[in-house]
Amino acid sequence: MNNIHAGFCVFCGVSIDWNINSPFCKICFKVLITKTSRFNRCELAFCHGCGCYSKSITVEYPLCKMRCRPFDRDSALNDDIYIQRLNRYKQLKGIHSIWDCFPRGDSIVINEYCISDLLSVIEDDGLNTNDVFDNSISSNKRIMNTLWMWEFGLPISLPILNKDDNYLIDGRHRILAASHLYERKIPIYCQTKRIMRSIL
Ligand SMILES: [Zn+2]
Ligand SMILES: [Zn+2]
Repeated sequence: MNNIHAGFCVFCGVSIDWNINSPFCKICFKVLITKTSRFNRCELAFCHGCGCYSKSITVEYPLCKMRCRPFDRDSALNDDIYIQRLNRYKQLKGIHSIWDCFPRGDSIVINEYCISDLLSVIEDDGLNTNDVFDNSISSNKRIMNTLWMWEFGLPISLPILNKDDNYLIDGRHRILAASHLYERKIPIYCQTKRIMRSIL
């Protein structure tokens, strides 16, 4: 299984390219722009992510709650949706991590790192890296949100490592998510004072 790139029109449910900002097929989009006054009253029906029929679909959130809407990453709510999706993500296989390798300038360079080296840095911060989902609920939700992005073929920004102190400034849960998919190496932003000084 490859990462999913397709989405669904929220009005008629046909398969279209993923576009969270305009989750409509060409035909429905034409109807929308020619009948603007109807726009707000239109009833949306289909999830842009999985195509299921759901009454919770809105223009702001064209994704179903059960499967496709990202979690509030700070919420520790342990409800049915969390448990059901946790079980699904624990089994998730066959997709790959996708990174937004956007150059950040001379002070932060992109290097490939072995996941195993990064995991040892994360362990020092007290996160369980053997079973990535054996952490707090909000931690698990952050991992699932990253997997969710990749599942839909969406890139995510790189973790940031301070190389001088071997300290992860950002991206622990992204690394745990990549580890869950058995990635061996990932690109990360490396920041060093040495590099920063050299450009002053
Ligand atoms: Zn449509
Ligand atoms: Zn859905």
